[in-house]
Parts: sequence; structure tokens; C-alpha cells
Amino acid sequence: MPLERTQKFATAAVHAGAAPDPATGARATPIYQTTSYVFEDVDHAAALFGLQAFGNIYTRITNPTQSVLEARLAALEDGTAALALASGHAAQFLAFHTLLEPGDEFIAGRQLYGGSINQFNHSFKKFGWNVVWADATDPQSFARAVTPRTRAIFCESIANPGGIIVDLPAISAIAKQAGVPFIVDNTLATPYLCKPKDFGADIVVHSLTKFIGGHGNSIGGAIVDCGTYDWLASPHRYKSLVEPNPSYNGMKLAEAFGPMAFAIAARVLGLRDLGPAISPFNAFLLLTGAETLPLRMQRQCDNALAVAQWLDTHPKIAWVSYAGLAESPNYELHKKICPKGAGAVFTFGLKGGYEAGVKLVSALKLFSLLANIGDTRSLVIHPASTTHRQLQDDERIAAGAGPDVVRLSIGIEDIDDIIGDLEQALAAVEMSTEKGP
Ligand code: PLP
Repeated sequence: MPLERTQKFATAAVHAGAAPDPATGARATPIYQTTSYVFEDVDHAAALFGLQAFGNIYTRITNPTQSVLEARLAALEDGTAALALASGHAAQFLAFHTLLEPGDEFIAGRQLYGGSINQFNHSFKKFGWNVVWADATDPQSFARAVTPRTRAIFCESIANPGGIIVDLPAISAIAKQAGVPFIVDNTLATPYLCKPKDFGADIVVHSLTKFIGGHGNSIGGAIVDCGTYDWLASPHRYKSLVEPNPSYNGMKLAEAFGPMAFAIAARVLGLRDLGPAISPFNAFLLLTGAETLPLRMQRQCDNALAVAQWLDTHPKIAWVSYAGLAESPNYELHKKICPKGAGAVFTFGLKGGYEAGVKLVSALKLFSLLANIGDTRSLVIHPASTTHRQLQDDERIAAGAGPDVVRLSIGIEDIDDIIGDLEQALAAVEMSTEKGP
């Protein structure tokens, strides 16, 4: 059943989906570290296996700790149901596995996390799923890319690494015109800043590894079904949803499960058969992280704006790409799509280009040089030599990860210490640049 939605965001972040443990009274959601669950009797087992009853069979498919995380995410994104998975990449994989057949196409804005570009360009091709690239800053480029084989449109709400805010309503209108679901990766915005469903998304995917978990300690991902796409309106597409399923006695999942059909299909077909289950322990840690999401996210956005403003006036900085800056071409979209803040991840370029960028990341002390974002700690990376290294030069530039680009993910530390670290590192860059190699 769709969840009741009476709580405000900060309350739902703490409570949605959770209740004291019925067996023990434990107030925190327990880690149900079990592989399997005892059936009441043979009929009960048969009902669970036949999808006539909801319940736990085996932790590859459902687990009570995971279920609380899923209910929490569904509530925060205003979806009908969610599926928690082993990673953000697993969430993308299962979302497309549920939608596509060999030979199908989907359109994606090319301003994406580099790993997603790789996944779409290479691994998905092995399944016969073809990505067609569009420009996330130009919604009409999605319209031009539509063909009779288009089955979905995909973009990030705030694009990694450039911090670009994407015009979700405009792209959603194109998806609706094409009659295909609109999938939004909401990892960088989180539902605290932006609920893609409010702007026309049908499916939301997450890397929970980032801001939702928030502490840099667990990998996880999720699919949220917004319950808005009418699968039965396209009876010849989306076979997993509309055709009789031989592994469930000919059940048609879209008919049986209505607005939750996508999340259920991703679980009972994709997760069941491909297997990227989240561990109960990771589900517990990510759930605990989600409780403080609104506090952390606001603080990180406020800190990020202060850092971007400071960098913007620094003589050694060539440019800053942060939608919260009034002169940013994305400023108006930020006010419309995520008015509480423009996110905590953004890029800038040093006047010294590639060499200066490498020197800066090496001189930072408080910032950790690593390949993650969304931690409580401030993080830095040079995408061209790391996260986007596997791409071709033109793909790197198109994805906002050119040679001079440095990416920051701003944490919750005191703003004076964050700016102080950047100040000392920029001074070091100046000295080494003056001395030369
Ligand atoms: N989507 C975005 C925007 C990301 O930044 C990442 C990882 O950095 C992913 C998806 C993939 O997530 P995971 O690393 O949890 O598989």
C-alpha cells in the first residue's frame, strides 16, 4: 500500500518506516543479520513465493532492516515504494534491467558521474541496451534524440562533478511527449534539496553512499518508484512489467501491483536474478545517516556557498562553477529546482591549469584527497586524473571534468577551518608556480 504522508521532511527523516521492534522493544531499528526466515507453514511459504503475500523469504530479496530503509526513502522522495541495493551503480543497473530489452535505447544527459558514463557506454552495451547522449543543459537536445526505440530518459538533478542544475520540468515534458519514463539520479541533491517527482520524474535512483548515508562508511543505492508512469498504456514495451511472467505463474506485474509495480519488478525479477543485495549492516548505517540528512545537507550547502563566494574573488582562481553564485548561468534554475541550496559539490579551475590543480590538491590538509562525495568531511579530487580518467578527452570536457578542474565536496566542519585550508594550499600553489618545475 502507498505510505501515509503526514509528517514533515525532518520528522520523516527520523521516523518514516520505523517503529520499536515488536519482539524486543528496541528503539533503534535492529540489524536483522539473517539469511532467511522461518515460514509459518507450507501455505504461507507458497503465498510468499507466489507474490500473493508480502513477507521475507531470503535476504537477497528482502530483509527487515532493508525494508525500513526503503520505507524511509520512499517517504522522503514521496514515492510509492523503494528498493535498497548494494550500490548506486546496482540501482541504475536494475532500473534499466527492469525497463529495457536488447536493442532498446535510452537517452541520457552527458553531464554525469564518470562511472555512469562508463556503465552506460560499455557494460550496458553487452546487454544490447544503447545509450544516446544528449546535453543536460539543453533540454531540446533530448527531444532531438528520441527515436521509436527510446524507452527512457535519464539525467542527474544536480550533475556530478560540475554542480550544474538540470531543468527537470523541461526534460520531463519531453519524456512525457515521447511516452517514456523519466529517471532522475538524485544523489547530489537528495530529496532534502529537490524531490524530482515534483518536477515530473517517474523513477528516482540514488547512490546512498553519498549524502544520504553521509558519513563515508557504507556503499549503497536505491530505486524509488514514484508511481506516476502508466505501464499498461504501452502494452508492447516494458515486457517485464506488462507481459505474463513465467516465473510467477503468468502474473502481470503492472496489473497486480499498480503504482508500485516498477519497484516490485526490480526486486522480484532484477534483484532476485542478478543479486546485488545490500547487507543488513549497511542498510542500518545508511538508515542512521538518513536521520540527520536535513541538518547535514543545509550546513553543507551553506558552507559550500561560502567557499564558492570566497574562491570566486581569489586572484588565483580562473572560474567557479557553483549554481548558488548569483552570476552562475544556473542560478535561476537553482532557485526553481532546489531553492534551499545549490548542493555541496562543485568545481573550479585554477589559472595554472592541470599542474596547478594537481599541486593544490596535494597541498590541502583538512580536505581529504579521495574519490567520494557527500561525507561529513570536506573532500577534494582532480577528476581528470581519477574519477573521469577512463573517459576520452572530449567526454571528460563534455562531462565538466576538463584538465584544470578541481572538485570539492564541502563537509560540515567550521567554515573558517575549511577556507583556512584552501587559503594555505593556494599560497603553496603560488609559491611552487613561481619557482617553476
Ligand atoms: N550517481 C552519482 C551521481 C554518483 O556520484 C555515484 C558515485 O560516485 C554513483 C551514482 C554510483 O554510486 P555507487 O558508488 O554507490 O555505486
